Amino acid sequence: LLAVVGVVVFLSSFNSQQQQQDPTAKRIEELLAKMTLEEKVGQLNFVVGDLFNTGPTVRTSESDVFNEAIKKGEITGIFNIHGAAYVGKLQKLAVEQSRLGIPLLIGADVIHGFKTVFPIPLAEAASWDMAAIEKGARVAGKESAASGINLTFAPMVDIARDARWGRTAEGAGEDPYLGSLIAAARVRGFQGKDLSDPLTIAACVKHFVAYGAAEGGRDYNTVDISEYELRNTYLPPFKAALDAGSASIMSSFNELNGIPATANMKVMRDILRDEWGYTGVVISDWQNIMEMTEHGYTRDNAHAGELAIKAGTDMDMMAEIYLKELPKLVKTGKLDVKYIDESVRRVLWLKYKLGLFDNPYRYSNVRNEKKEVRSKENLQAAFEVAQRSIVLLKNENNLLPLTNSTKKIAVIGPLADNKADMNGTWSFFGEAQHPVSFLEGIKKYAKGAQVTYAQGCELYSDSKAKFNEAVAAAQNADVVIMAIGESAVMNGEGASRAEVALPGVQLDLVKAIHATGKPIIALVSSGRALELSWLDENIPGILATWSLGSEAGNAVGSVLYGAYNPAGKLPVSFPRAVGQLPIYYNQKNTGRPYTGTHAEPGEERVYKSRYRDVPNTALYPFGYGLSYTTFKYDNLKLDKKSFRPGEPLQVSIDVTNTGKYAGEEVVQIYTRDLVGSITRPVKELKKFQKLHFKPGEKKTVTFAINADDLAFWRADLTYGFEPGDFKVFVGPNSRDTQEAAFTLVTEDSI
Ligand code: BGC
Repeated sequence: LLAVVGVVVFLSSFNSQQQQQDPTAKRIEELLAKMTLEEKVGQLNFVVGDLFNTGPTVRTSESDVFNEAIKKGEITGIFNIHGAAYVGKLQKLAVEQSRLGIPLLIGADVIHGFKTVFPIPLAEAASWDMAAIEKGARVAGKESAASGINLTFAPMVDIARDARWGRTAEGAGEDPYLGSLIAAARVRGFQGKDLSDPLTIAACVKHFVAYGAAEGGRDYNTVDISEYELRNTYLPPFKAALDAGSASIMSSFNELNGIPATANMKVMRDILRDEWGYTGVVISDWQNIMEMTEHGYTRDNAHAGELAIKAGTDMDMMAEIYLKELPKLVKTGKLDVKYIDESVRRVLWLKYKLGLFDNPYRYSNVRNEKKEVRSKENLQAAFEVAQRSIVLLKNENNLLPLTNSTKKIAVIGPLADNKADMNGTWSFFGEAQHPVSFLEGIKKYAKGAQVTYAQGCELYSDSKAKFNEAVAAAQNADVVIMAIGESAVMNGEGASRAEVALPGVQLDLVKAIHATGKPIIALVSSGRALELSWLDENIPGILATWSLGSEAGNAVGSVLYGAYNPAGKLPVSFPRAVGQLPIYYNQKNTGRPYTGTHAEPGEERVYKSRYRDVPNTALYPFGYGLSYTTFKYDNLKLDKKSFRPGEPLQVSIDVTNTGKYAGEEVVQIYTRDLVGSITRPVKELKKFQKLHFKPGEKKTVTFAINADDLAFWRADLTYGFEPGDFKVFVGPNSRDTQEAAFTLVTEDSI
């Protein structure tokens, strides 16, 4: 026993010695020692600015309620405000007029750009281009930092397998591997090499965790999943973001296996803090501490505050429960102040890391703001990512790219002459009049052609009153370009949809135009996978154009005219019918697998996994996307039939550009573990390479597969690989692959 005590004493004195050596830790301890209990909980209280201010205390910048709260040290920061000068004024109040002079955090939902709006995150994911995605986040970081912001509530890394969920738009889609790479790229982009670099902002990876697994795709809903599923599918992008250095993380609204995430000891303490050793700040989502009582998990605000802080949720966003309830709990002996101290230390640490103590006006340089916001270079970066985000879904008879021999073009649809919706969901700072519309972009590239426009219908009304005008425009054209799909408010938070198809009478409009017999190119914008079966059967040209941001029209114009050859690949599976949802490529097999056929009406029952009415498969699978050129895949080779850990398997395939255009291709490699201690998905993306090919060019593309690439959370909840037989698949998407077999041999399996 004495020895154990000795070790504990040694370790704790070692810890405090170490802290004393670290000057920041020392400064934090000194500051903490000076703080009253009220000042401490003030550091955990994060409140919104004017925008959507529905909190318990309504504060606006016109009134001086903010000013008073800042002077009293009641708030740690304000979010969703901006402006270098305004932030400078608030910072001055905090530094000069609050008792301890602690600077403010200025947060914001900088989700896909700031005033230069980038494509929505789901769209950017379709680029499969980590450098472009990192650059997008870097530009967003630079612009928002120049405008006073020092923390973004991004990246959103929730795996989304159900297109009904509106927040699919904010993440990277359905795949944990692609999602993890993107999560890390975005964190690097926002935070730069180090938060002390100029014009960097802290990232806040969200929403922890499994928020995207909501039942029925209904936002905020119940999540009940196994720990295997949690670890193999939902946690990896969070781990990747934290490994990339994300300075904070946000807890999610949902309950997870019966316990709201905000107070869920299993994920918040056991996994996040103990297993991963995370020392950054946990921020609650908007009032989700308070909502635990609605969930039926806590009795009242005080109870909710107690459980949330004990679980290590450091900051209370908008509920003001920590501010109002925690001091009482401490004073009545119900809460040990050590929990509050622990959270305050982490918040102060973040403020130190951001350099706010050393220079509180670091983010308030009006000259920088003028130079950075919507600069030419930033718009150029948004243009390039927008081009890369577009996915060519269908191109019958090489209708695309258009050439200048097309003389008469009709541009039709509710998204054609529309700027505001190009910004997409979560673009508080992007201005509605800024984006380049599709119509403007098309006119720019359609040199010498006559371009007519007709709206055809509203985004989501039942009226067909404008159909005739649109049909007349089509009749008079050589080619019709239709801009259809979802508006910005149809996706994002609180925007679940039960019908994930074209809203309103848009499909009827397409049918009316189709009846003219003119060739149609459909630009389908959405923040999710849509059901596009009729379009796929009837329309020769289809492009997924998401919400592409400031440069939407220019990007689309350049793609339609072949100035850029589209190379995007879907990060989510597009269904054939809404009833298939959730649908995702990395599903499990069954004991009665789908055989590739569905039943004809009246046919006898067959006891297989299938629908009677539609195939089980996606209409457009994960990883799918065409190019104006064509690629041939052949000669799949493995350098050995079996391999051991430490000696990677080399998988190679020849890819040839067999068409007449130069273009990029994302070569994808998937594996399947045939026998596992828990059942394994039928395919899992392991690696990919995005490569450029000149016409006629052939490349041998090689992937090294290591034993670690085959690791997963196993039946005993340890992480690692299992020896045995595997399949490997290589191809242009998750469906059209070539396959081979290999064996992983370990000491145990010999
Ligand atoms: C959302 C978060 C967001 C926060 C602050 C919440 O409603 O779920 O993603 O960061 O609001 O605006």
